[in-house]
Amino acid sequence: RKGTVVITGASSGLGLATAKALAETGKWHVIMACRDFLKAERAAKSVGMSKESYTIMHLDLASLDSVRQFVENFKRCGRTLDVLVCNAAVYQPTAREPSFTADGFELSVGTNHLGHFLLSRLLLDDMKQSDYPSKRLIIVGSITGNTNTLAGNVPPKANLGDLRGLQGGLNGLNSSSMIDGGDFDGAKAYKDSKVCNMLTMQEFHRRYNEDTGITFASLYPGCIATTGLFREHIPLFRLLFPPFQKFITKGFVSEEDAGKRLAQVVSDPSLTKSGVYWSWNKDSASFENQLSQEASNAEKARKVWEVSEKLVGLA
Ligand code: NDP
Repeated sequence: RKGTVVITGASSGLGLATAKALAETGKWHVIMACRDFLKAERAAKSVGMSKESYTIMHLDLASLDSVRQFVENFKRCGRTLDVLVCNAAVYQPTAREPSFTADGFELSVGTNHLGHFLLSRLLLDDMKQSDYPSKRLIIVGSITGNTNTLAGNVPPKANLGDLRGLQGGLNGLNSSSMIDGGDFDGAKAYKDSKVCNMLTMQEFHRRYNEDTGITFASLYPGCIATTGLFREHIPLFRLLFPPFQKFITKGFVSEEDAGKRLAQVVSDPSLTKSGVYWSWNKDSASFENQLSQEASNAEKARKVWEVSEKLVGLA
């Protein structure tokens, strides 16, 4: 049978390119989990995905109610879940003030981390029930949350500190809107959320890999300088960033090639190792990359997990 893969944020960029790459193999049915139905439908058509290769289901990660509703809808659609890809993200590098999710969490961490945390926890049971030979839960990471790399050392650096802001609910009222309790910084909030993504993947691996056989993985697909992720950046940045990445850092990867990389992590028989953060070298060969000290701190991973459970109402 075909595998069923849920991809969050499949309406643009990396998520869309991955949906296309998987649909084209004929071996996957793609559930596009998106907040904007019409945009997702147009996006699927624009890349030539055939009607029977995908289903669009509504998901707004900035609302825990919406996440729960999505899980209910999925359970009713009659498919078993074989692979989940947590890909959607928001990035607000120029925001001066924080914005918030429906539940009052700072938007970047609320969407990129907490929304996905609840989604993947609730869908784990569905994945356990699937008889698919190679079940995977993939959370897209980033190099920018990785302070052991050059790009990860561009200020402001990711730093979760002692999690006091997260513990306080990231609401900007009786707690800071930043995980470490500091002043709001949109670029840092994004990087922090990506560190949470990578820590969550490893904590999933420690808690569930042995019992469930599910592969838990993260990846850095390369710098896809052309995606909508940079839509809120200043115009000059948006103009210069793609050529800068292409010719100076040489970290540039096209949306199509990045989609093929993520599609590999979804279905390549050689990428079944769990607890791994995949990257690609210049010849586009995959390798297991090292995470920064903070992004591989097991104690911090456990704490982020436990605090997040409380915030999303699982504990
Ligand atoms: P895009 O902005 O093109 O795509 C992000 C997707 O997330 C969009 O489909 C967007 O939906 C969706 N999304 C945002 N907020 C929500 C929400 N509340 N609920 C549901 N979906 C939402 O960016 P990319 O493709 O570049 O980013 C994809 C992933 O790749 C992210 O995890 C990012 O961190 C990661 N990444 C990107 C890199 C890059 O260089 N671009 C580098 C490393 C990692 P909508 O279409 O409705 O706006």
